[in-house]
Amino acid sequence: MSDFPQQPHRFSGREREHLDAALSRKSLFYWQEGSATSRMLERARQVIGGRYAVATSSGTAALHVAVGAAALEPGREIIIPCITDMGSLIGPLYQNLVPVFADVDPHTYNITAETIEAVRTDRTVAVMVVHLLGTPAEMGPIIELCRKHKLVLIEDCAQSYGCYYGQQHVGTLGDFGCFSLNDFKHLSTGEGGFVLMNDQRYYDEARPFADKYYDRLHRERRLLRLGLNYRITELQSAVGLAQFDRFEQATAGRRAFGEALTARLQDVPGLHPPAVPATGRSSYWFYMLRVDEQTLGIPRDALVEHLTARGITCSAGYIPRPLYHEHVFAHKSFFPGGVWPAELIAGRTYDYRQVRCPVAEQVLATAVKLHVNDAWGEAEADACAEAIAQCVPAARR
Ligand SMILES: *Cc1c(COP(=O)(O)O)cnc(C)c1O
Repeated sequence: MSDFPQQPHRFSGREREHLDAALSRKSLFYWQEGSATSRMLERARQVIGGRYAVATSSGTAALHVAVGAAALEPGREIIIPCITDMGSLIGPLYQNLVPVFADVDPHTYNITAETIEAVRTDRTVAVMVVHLLGTPAEMGPIIELCRKHKLVLIEDCAQSYGCYYGQQHVGTLGDFGCFSLNDFKHLSTGEGGFVLMNDQRYYDEARPFADKYYDRLHRERRLLRLGLNYRITELQSAVGLAQFDRFEQATAGRRAFGEALTARLQDVPGLHPPAVPATGRSSYWFYMLRVDEQTLGIPRDALVEHLTARGITCSAGYIPRPLYHEHVFAHKSFFPGGVWPAELIAGRTYDYRQVRCPVAEQVLATAVKLHVNDAWGEAEADACAEAIAQCVPAARR
């Protein structure tokens, strides 16, 4: 079985049409009547939800805008999963917050109300949930916990287009939903991102924060706070506008693949397919399962090698190590000069070398990540299950 279809070409005549239209105008600036940017955001709200939207130059920028718009006091703590992209951490660090790492569920790979509660202190002001690999976190209890302790809830949805919790698309459940449009995500504008919000007060902070603190809606040039230039351009938004027409195409097949493969692997001793909350749907940005080598009878690397030889692109593990083991955290070398302002403001020191998230470490040590693409579906799930059965005797039916 080596006839797994390749990722289809993602850009078409529609992108060209919107690009042409953008180029035929006098300006590529995002803030203008009928701009591609405002239309892209309208599409994003239609497809995903949320009352307000702000476009940004990246997913990292979207997350920074959320943290900035939440007006969190410097020196306070924000809880973040230890398995995520560094882009989740950059905004909090630049806002002089202290990232506190939470462990994850062994099978959804997401933080939970319990793992959040385990590291919450009286200095915690916010929680950033990352819906990893397109799978929703168990949001009900997390929302409850955040309400109870008045914590701002930010959702990192960079990997989770087409990811639902109950009837709702993720990114509309917390205070902020942050999306990436970088080239590796379900939808691509090359680089780009956006933030969704329901609360107008947050929208009124997010807009200027992403635009050097210039409030274009009210045409005000009163610099009330420090913002950034995270503006998107009309060229990116023109592509984005067309990309939202591919939303189903970019998520439905992956979901069908993931759900079918999980059903096929559910009862194989030694294999642990990814779990999804009971009311949730995943869009499998990657399909990451875990292996118990002892029970399975073959090493993880042998399985990876076997699948790769059959045309299934995959790799062992996910990120190389939990983030607290990265040099920049272990040595707190965020800024030059050996000083971390957040610690000075907090009046206390933090030691990331003492942090342990045992479940996350286990996940990374046992994971096999399949590189799913938009063209895959149920047939590929069957073929994957067959390929696994060829080298895993217990998977043969
Ligand atoms: C990709 C990604 C980001 C950052 O997005 P960029 O557009 O690359 O800045 C943040 N968080 C997660 C979980 C991501 O996968």
